[in-house]
Amino acid sequence: MKRILLVEDNPDNRDLVFAFLDALYDIRACVDGFEALEALAPNSGYRPDLLLCDISLPGMDGVELLRTLRQDPRLAGIPAIALTSHAMKGDQERFLAAGFDAYVSKPITDETILLDAIERLLSHGQGG
Ligand code: MN
Repeated sequence: MKRILLVEDNPDNRDLVFAFLDALYDIRACVDGFEALEALAPNSGYRPDLLLCDISLPGMDGVELLRTLRQDPRLAGIPAIALTSHAMKGDQERFLAAGFDAYVSKPITDETILLDAIERLLSHGQGG
């Protein structure tokens, strides 16, 4: 099973993502960017195949978190999807500039959009 790291501070949204994806992927959830950085620390032995990241997070937003990850050669290649309710004009450029490969708007009402984005990025392949 491919590993997905979900970073989302809203428990309802976490539950929703688990409901959609738990049967298909090995999902691990973090409640904010600090917890995510801990999970991804070199000594953790953990490297997800894909990052699913909320943008509005307490303390360190998703853009800042991803920018940090992209500066780490060990983590830079992990495909990342922004989960965002900020799908305003200009935001897409901001997400892509931070290194996100795709974004999915919240609320997630149709899980096929999320699944398609995940499968598309996973199939680009990091060689397993
Ligand atoms: Mn949030």
